[in-house]
Amino acid sequence: MKKILVTGGAGFLGSYICEELLKRKYEVVAIDMADGEKIAHLMTNKRFTFIQDSVCDTALMKHQMKDIDMVFHLAAIADPLKYVTNPLNVMEVDLLAAINIFKIAAENRIKIIFSSTSEVFGRNKNVPWNEEDDRVLGSTEIYRWCYSTSKSACEHYLFALHKQEKIPFVIYRFFNVYGPKLDDLGHGRVIPIFLKQFLNGEDITVHGDGRQTRTFVYVDDAIDAVIKLAFSKKAENQVFNIGTSREYSMHELAKTMKKIGNFKSKIKFVEHKKVFGKGYEDIPRRVPDVSKLKKYINWQARVSLEKGLKKTIEYYRNRKGI
Ligand code: UDP
Repeated sequence: MKKILVTGGAGFLGSYICEELLKRKYEVVAIDMADGEKIAHLMTNKRFTFIQDSVCDTALMKHQMKDIDMVFHLAAIADPLKYVTNPLNVMEVDLLAAINIFKIAAENRIKIIFSSTSEVFGRNKNVPWNEEDDRVLGSTEIYRWCYSTSKSACEHYLFALHKQEKIPFVIYRFFNVYGPKLDDLGHGRVIPIFLKQFLNGEDITVHGDGRQTRTFVYVDDAIDAVIKLAFSKKAENQVFNIGTSREYSMHELAKTMKKIGNFKSKIKFVEHKKVFGKGYEDIPRRVPDVSKLKKYINWQARVSLEKGLKKTIEYYRNRKGI
């Protein structure tokens, strides 16, 4: 195995994956629409190529996938606000471009490592969820579910591709990964949004009553799992949850961040509707069962939320311009 393609390689998780693969002496090609800020430190590596372009470009993808041995497909839109404001784009990238890439991979008989999501479980009330648990989604009139549906369809496609054409794959579902380089502060997910507010001394915008929960996994732990899964023969053609089981309410998350960073901001509550308008529905609880990961690759998270938040806060405090 020599050359690996990472779509979304300049993003939060992709950048860490490229770095790990380079450490393991692979030749790595990253394709991403984003600028190369998160991978600037890799640019001088002779085994690394960065192409700033869209994975929706079929000719580009065909050309780039001619001589690779494995593809990590991460390029996707994964920002809840965008599920509501630009669902068309979410489906163009997360569904149509992904399936296209899987087809090209199949033509070239390339192993596919697919970044799916905990969103596939929707709002199934029976937490913790193991990999075989039900998906419980709302109506197609609720835009939020376009992301979950796109990722689930991709998972189906990979299972079918293996069943009928014997293309090897691994699917992993991240449960709220965080750490340095996660999004631009103030955008995307809850931790960078809160962090920007804390760093600027603004009020913290906890949505709803703040009792909705998430579990969080630190980026180093998450990437360790992905790399182990990608190269494990035993894990082939299966799906895995990657996360932790300690549940935090969003109010508790805000209080924890305030304490760890010694911040002064006030914690406020805002209605979901004010932020997202119509077409949004929150997920009340999200908790994975990660025993399959332990069984297959002997993995368990090492970094607590407190420790991970400390590192993340430090990273952003030291960044210029904040
Ligand atoms: N959230 C919040 N305030 C914010 C941003 C997010 O309370 O400013 C909440 C959001 O409503 C959800 C949770 O944090 O309940 C996690 O949201 P995130 O955007 O990280 O994505 P999700 O886990 O829902 O995919």
